[in-house]
Amino acid sequence: MTTSPISSLRCIACGTQHEVTTARFACQSCGDLLAVEHDLDALKQRFGDLKQRFDQRASAFGSGVWRYHEMILPDLPAASIVTLNEGSTGLYSRPAIDAFVGCKRAQIKHEGENPTLSFKDRGMTAGVSWAKHVKARRVACASTGDTSAAMAAYAASADVPGVVLLPHEKVSLEQLAQPISYGARVLALQTDFDGCMRLVKQLTESGEIYLLNSMNPFRIEGQKAIGIEAVHQRGWKVPDWFVIPVGNAGNISALGKGLRELHALGLIDRLPRLAGIQVAAADPFYRAYKNDFAQRQAVVAQPTVASAIRIGDPVSYDKARKVVQGFDGVVGVVDDQAALDAKASCDAAGVHICPNSGVALAGARQLVKDGVIGKDQEIVVIATAHGAKFSQAAIDYHSHDGGPLHNTPRVLPAELTAIHGALG
Ligand SMILES: [Zn+2]
Repeated sequence: MTTSPISSLRCIACGTQHEVTTARFACQSCGDLLAVEHDLDALKQRFGDLKQRFDQRASAFGSGVWRYHEMILPDLPAASIVTLNEGSTGLYSRPAIDAFVGCKRAQIKHEGENPTLSFKDRGMTAGVSWAKHVKARRVACASTGDTSAAMAAYAASADVPGVVLLPHEKVSLEQLAQPISYGARVLALQTDFDGCMRLVKQLTESGEIYLLNSMNPFRIEGQKAIGIEAVHQRGWKVPDWFVIPVGNAGNISALGKGLRELHALGLIDRLPRLAGIQVAAADPFYRAYKNDFAQRQAVVAQPTVASAIRIGDPVSYDKARKVVQGFDGVVGVVDDQAALDAKASCDAAGVHICPNSGVALAGARQLVKDGVIGKDQEIVVIATAHGAKFSQAAIDYHSHDGGPLHNTPRVLPAELTAIHGALG
């Protein structure tokens, strides 16, 4: 017996529908991005009580993405799933973090606890599983960081060759280590990141090599499990706010999509508000927001410690704009120093996060100061990657006077009295 697909792909600009199995992610009518759309009535009819299903799987099932299989890719057969037990990340409450932010409860959803240490694994398990389902022979992305690490890990797990395009001599060893270790074919091109993006699009145009960049709409479906899981961990009680860093704007788009679907399916009784936070060195989305989204802005992104969100022209601008407007959301901005201080504060509470996550945490603190987030409210801050991916930022901050929370190691003679002296 064959059942008709629950999902389809719809152009976010002109609304044209495309087959869910297509390997091309530009609208055939107007060229804009496609989004996965689920027929939620059909979904309810086919799978019944989703809350019960998800609750039952909570303790027994390793993946915090596929625990929500019916909401992620309902048409994907379980046999096609490629998983590294991603998700199931911690949701941390610490008095020190509440005090830092200044509101009643500020929980950290730590996506750095994923297998390749960033939230990208959630999207990639969905993208690579779907690639396997549509029998892709190779997968590719252009990336200078977390995306290539995640793609390489999942491609290796699926036994599908992975190709990573990156700009020659513009990537650190830390960023190279994961994709080469996972066996991806890494091609360092004599161009910049935008040049790599252009070439990966051309390379995948024929559909022969499957594109896993942020244009791939299936990744959003896996990524949206962050919000679903966080709310599930809170006993299906939504916080007043989610606060999330914004670079390419795919993550905030995914978060909004998941929450809206949870609401439409009746698993939550209200929607939270969303706050997207940018870093001052790359703040096109903030500028557009300040201008009531009258027009899309692009900037030349400057160097910043928050390198993962150093994006001058966010790919998912339109999706993210709709999410911010639909969730009574706000967009904030903080500078590098505020992000590093927030990171140091969170790290010292035992939750080791990356500088990009520090941007979100610093933004939350600023929004409380500005009276946008109430002191009596509960928030969830999405931390996107682990501090261990950014050791240099921590070393720099702590090895000299990097900020008020610096914890500089002291050099002493090898004598007990000196140690006692230092310990007071
Ligand atoms: Zn279109």
